Amino acid sequence: MTVTDTRPDTESGETTKTLDALVIGAGVAGLYQVYQLKKLGLNVHGYEEASDVGGTWYWNRYPGARFDSEGYIYQYMFDEDLYKGWSWSKKFPDQSEIEDWFHYATDKLGVRDDFDFSTRITSAEFDEVTGRWTVTTDRGQIIDTRFLVSCAGMLSAPLTSMFEGQDTFLGEIFHTSRWPRDGVQLLNKRVAVIGTGATGIQVIQTIAPDVELLKVFVRTPQFTLPMKNPDYTTADVRAYHDKFEHLRDTVKTTVVGFEYDYTTKEWAERTEEERRELLEECYNDGSLKLWIASYLSMFVDPDVSAAVSDFVRAKIGARLRDPKLIDLLVPKPEDFGFGTHRVPLERGYYEVFHRPNVEAIGVRNNPITRIVPEGIELADGTLHEVDVIIMATGFDAGSGALSRLDPKGRGGRSLADDWNREIRSTMGFMVHGYPNLLTTGIPLAPSAALCNMPTCLQQQTEWISRLIGHMQENGHRVVEPTLEGEEAWVQHHDEVTQATLIAKTDSWYNGANVEGKPRGRVLSYLGAADFRQRTDENADRGYPGFRFA
Ligand code: NAP
Repeated sequence: MTVTDTRPDTESGETTKTLDALVIGAGVAGLYQVYQLKKLGLNVHGYEEASDVGGTWYWNRYPGARFDSEGYIYQYMFDEDLYKGWSWSKKFPDQSEIEDWFHYATDKLGVRDDFDFSTRITSAEFDEVTGRWTVTTDRGQIIDTRFLVSCAGMLSAPLTSMFEGQDTFLGEIFHTSRWPRDGVQLLNKRVAVIGTGATGIQVIQTIAPDVELLKVFVRTPQFTLPMKNPDYTTADVRAYHDKFEHLRDTVKTTVVGFEYDYTTKEWAERTEEERRELLEECYNDGSLKLWIASYLSMFVDPDVSAAVSDFVRAKIGARLRDPKLIDLLVPKPEDFGFGTHRVPLERGYYEVFHRPNVEAIGVRNNPITRIVPEGIELADGTLHEVDVIIMATGFDAGSGALSRLDPKGRGGRSLADDWNREIRSTMGFMVHGYPNLLTTGIPLAPSAALCNMPTCLQQQTEWISRLIGHMQENGHRVVEPTLEGEEAWVQHHDEVTQATLIAKTDSWYNGANVEGKPRGRVLSYLGAADFRQRTDENADRGYPGFRFA
């Protein structure tokens, strides 16, 4: 492989660099990808728009941001010392502790100096003659690289411009995923939160006691589960450290990459009492267990879905005193089934709405029409005056980050245009027409929708490294999925996902949250262990469906 050659271009003052592999992103995937490719002997460099490591956990520093996965499975598991060298202070740590872990892991992996931070990739173009990518950055760098590896994130393209008149607002306006590092002064302010997904819920329950007035704009309420978040003693940490081998091996075998899995004794095989018993047990665990370790049939059988939804609906309803709040904050039977949207964990979320300084405003039938200098205006003309607007409005998920970069592949084809027509990929690792562009966390691979991200991202980056290693060994310079190979995966993906109720409800899971985005295809592959098995088998068999040159 080639060696680094960094030289200033005297005419333009630009810098040209030649690499074997360029990795975009310094989150869970990017850091580990750079580490692996270095070990393979490649001349690799990473580029990160943020000023430091962390990816999702760098950007999402809004009040209340914390894991919904247990910390002890949200770690790299390929190295026992790396794993055991870190101790979480509680079961579901918060963003600042997670950021500390990123710094720890980055230093242990020894990859900090392999990244340019505060550097955004602005374009990427494939050259069919050389079989290489030309990549530019917002700092005027031009990079010539054989492989372009995107670890740009599944939920990293925030929906920031949503409302007419946003620029006219006289107060402060923030998207949760672009929260200032120095924080925001919310004390004694009149604050609006738009959005009640996983992010909005964390923000609302956290800031309510501090603000003068909190106006929560609710369009679609979510099914949630209550979080129990015990502090860890030294003995607790030792106990999970001692389970390292078990945890490492187990997360690879479960449907969603967690330590626990769906019951083998399904709904149909149980008595009413036994069904309820497992629901209660999972609910009381204080984790996501009810969603990812109870009945898998809830995702395909409308009767099971309805029964589990009724169970959670009753639990939420019992915590709300006011029928108006129940109407606004509890999903209705006709809305969607439990678990077909991402289930957030909450702590005291519903009780917040009983506070005198908190108001829930339904915007399903009376939508937000625009933002005006004083605040938020609804369709019926009501004006809600506030000092700060927090947009917890989500992301252009899965395809957003790469579409915004818009790599140009063979014949100058545009990924943004291609995905605007139909979102496709080959196992989430590559897209036909874009040779040597390798991807993690993109559609048609398992990801945040129903996977513990580090489990899936470790597997995806390891698969990519194995592919590149295979090419090195065999003297291949270029790899691309065939059209037939891609079509076979798309069909398989659709068969798996369309059979579920997830495909039948609108959310970011199928692109319904972004105007103009192709809808209907579930973005995430469902079944992390199955995906691992299928993609490992593809590698074992010499990568059928891929063409090498
Ligand atoms: P989201 O789930 O897409 O929620 C966006 C919210 O904004 C929804 O309530 C949506 O309402 C609302 N919204 C959007 N446009 C609106 C409009 N014009 N008027 C009124 N409401 C509007 O986004 P998110 O909460 O940021 O979560 C995204 C994903 O990030 C999660 O599903 C999860 O995977 C991940 N996440 C993880 C964690 C964690 O691990 N701890 C925490 C936070 C987020 P509708 O539903 O009606 O569209």
